[in-house]
Amino acid sequence: MRILLTNDDGIHAPGLKVLEAIARAFSDDIWIVAPMEEQSGAGHSLTLAHPLRIRRHGPQHYSVSGTPTDAVALAIGHLMKDRRPDLLLSGVNRGANLGEDVTYSGTVSAAMEGAISGVRSIALSQVYAREAAGDAVPFEAAEVWGERVVRALLARAETPKTLVNVNFPALPPEAIKGVKVVRQGFHDVERTRIVKGTDPRGYDYFWFGLDHSDSTPEASDLAAVADGYISVTPLHFDLTHDASLTALQATLDGALG
Ligand code: MN
Repeated sequence: MRILLTNDDGIHAPGLKVLEAIARAFSDDIWIVAPMEEQSGAGHSLTLAHPLRIRRHGPQHYSVSGTPTDAVALAIGHLMKDRRPDLLLSGVNRGANLGEDVTYSGTVSAAMEGAISGVRSIALSQVYAREAAGDAVPFEAAEVWGERVVRALLARAETPKTLVNVNFPALPPEAIKGVKVVRQGFHDVERTRIVKGTDPRGYDYFWFGLDHSDSTPEASDLAAVADGYISVTPLHFDLTHDASLTALQATLDGALG
């Protein structure tokens, strides 16, 4: 099995090493193609306005001067064009990718790009407690549980054009209660804080802070992780709000006749 590894935290991120250890349990045919620099929050961004560079770090080991989506597109469409990957693993992200955050997430978007390209794709993220923020984010939960979760997911037939989003709770591995397959939830609103500061030359700058005020509705990914479970959420890309289709057509027919 040929496995492509990528992330949004960059080629040097500790979580990528964790991901590689997980992948090595399944195959020796590992390709790493990840962004040169951190791209958290890049979402499904594709670089169009300027050229991209690829840097070779070793056999089947590359970084790309762009977004996670750029990295996956260049991996599948160029670096690995002679034989595509059978599996894409993205992560292990430093931090949660839960609820509507998946739309901001470079980690999830890399898996989205893989799935759109016809490659089975799984995104993995390690939630961390705020007091542990910094370089010392513990990945033990992902290290201990990651291989088992991926193995279980691979035992099931693939559902084309979907990805699986996995989040490991901020708990010691032995404290994790199990795995829950749950739908995507929603955070409470008003969680992006705009911090205004003054730069060394006296000009204003603005920086987004993230104040999480989590809602934990029943049976969501947010609730599962808050309850001490690994959350597993199948995602697809049809964002249509089905319940509005008929009523919206009627509204427009009435208004525009
Ligand atoms: Mn990240």
